[in-house]
Amino acid sequence: MTNNRTIFKKIIDGEIPAKLVYDDEMCLAFHDVSPQAPVHVLLIPKKVIRNLDGLSADDRDLMGHMLSIVPLLAQKLGLSEGYRLVANCGANGGQSVDHLHFHILGGRQLNWPPG
Ligand code: 5GP
Repeated sequence: MTNNRTIFKKIIDGEIPAKLVYDDEMCLAFHDVSPQAPVHVLLIPKKVIRNLDGLSADDRDLMGHMLSIVPLLAQKLGLSEGYRLVANCGANGGQSVDHLHFHILGGRQLNWPPG
């Protein structure tokens, strides 16, 4: 299992540096290397899950835990005016890294609908 490890798995394993904003036993949050807004943070599970379609009932506690952290991160990141949580899934969803991740975007007015 060395060849198909994603860039995010390498960040989890400490092989690639990232600007961390949160770290616990289940998940990690760090700044996106190519920010699409003044604040652009990625929240990822440490467990290897390819995307939303890779979730199972076993992951309920993990997902509940991660969602409960989002408002804490938003507060820490100064997003008192609001923010957006995004999970791109699969080719049509625009997913480019095959490890489940939530984008937390904020710091400006975000448009809707997304492209
Ligand atoms: P996706 O397009 O899969 O929804 O999001 C993947 C995100 O990961 C992109 O926003 C991209 O900029 C970010 N990304 C890709 N490689 C790296 C990296 O090595 N470090 C960090 N911090 N972000 C990355």
